[in-house]
Amino acid sequence: MTTEHQTSRRTVLGLLSAAAVPTAALMLPGGAHAAPAGAGGLPDYLPIPSGSAGPELNADGYHVGRIKDELYWVTDGFYQAMLLSTREGVVLVDAPPTIGHNLLRAVQDVTRANGRPGRVTHLVYSHSHADHIGAAVLFGRRVERVAHVETKRLLRAAGDPNRPLPTVTFEDRHVLRVGGERLELAYHGPNHSPDNIFVHAPAHATLMVVDVLYPGWVPFKNLAVSQDIPGWTDAQRRAMQYPWTTLVGGHLGRLGTRADGDLQRQYVIDLEASARATLAALDPAPFFGKYLPAGNAWAIFKTYLEEAARRTAEPVAAKYAGVLAAADVFTVDNAFAMLESLRIDAGVLGPFSIRP
Ligand SMILES: [Zn+2]
Repeated sequence: MTTEHQTSRRTVLGLLSAAAVPTAALMLPGGAHAAPAGAGGLPDYLPIPSGSAGPELNADGYHVGRIKDELYWVTDGFYQAMLLSTREGVVLVDAPPTIGHNLLRAVQDVTRANGRPGRVTHLVYSHSHADHIGAAVLFGRRVERVAHVETKRLLRAAGDPNRPLPTVTFEDRHVLRVGGERLELAYHGPNHSPDNIFVHAPAHATLMVVDVLYPGWVPFKNLAVSQDIPGWTDAQRRAMQYPWTTLVGGHLGRLGTRADGDLQRQYVIDLEASARATLAALDPAPFFGKYLPAGNAWAIFKTYLEEAARRTAEPVAAKYAGVLAAADVFTVDNAFAMLESLRIDAGVLGPFSIRP
């Protein structure tokens, strides 16, 4: 363990215990929780480890980089898209609105340099979520849009003009061949969303799967706000079974390595172990004792689960401070999601199990 890590560890424990100040001390008159005060009243967090940051953005606010041969990626530091330049046009995977018109500039950068056609002919949707495909409208009606059947159903229900319906759908697998290049799309069941797919470029040893692995960072809040947590952890396992050397995770500023994937899986495994230990050890009596006389069932659940999340997170956030960026930002929320999944998906119900 490095000195930097030990310093981070002490700091993260301090920050987490600051969040554990007795509830009354954190209550504002309106009932909202006060954040630990930093500059401007916002909380302070640990610095981002240098290895978690991506390449510098250009003056327009994006970076486009070659992955291998004619496969490229684009980022704005928050979101990512993937771009395959072929002899017949460009295949774009996802169209995040925060990158927006910079997607068009990135396509121009690539195709001016390699002399291949600059028109986007195909758009692949990783999943239906607007934050990843909400700029699809920029590519016009003529582009072929490829997605899972469930993505089409969800987009039809959403009725969002910025996310036009797919023109080609598939159920299990689809091989997209364009201008001498090839992408293999696969659906392995619901995970982060009901429709999230795997996009594999075998010739480029690259896998794009979005909202499943976050290279250099802990997962987004509540385990990537996943609708199916067991499916999501299984998607992490499946992602690592593909033979890739480069991962496009869809978020943040850099690409992923296999070591990033292994580390993220270990974070989730550690979180689950800590959640199981907490559910077994945390005494529910104080929570029932305080709120049962008033009949406030939700207060019992809220305070028990929040304390369980804090205890679950503490050793995990400490272990990953200085290793994965934002371990101090989202580990309590991720612990809450893990605890709730253990309760309702795995049946580890703690004090709410079968009454003796
Ligand atoms: Zn999503």
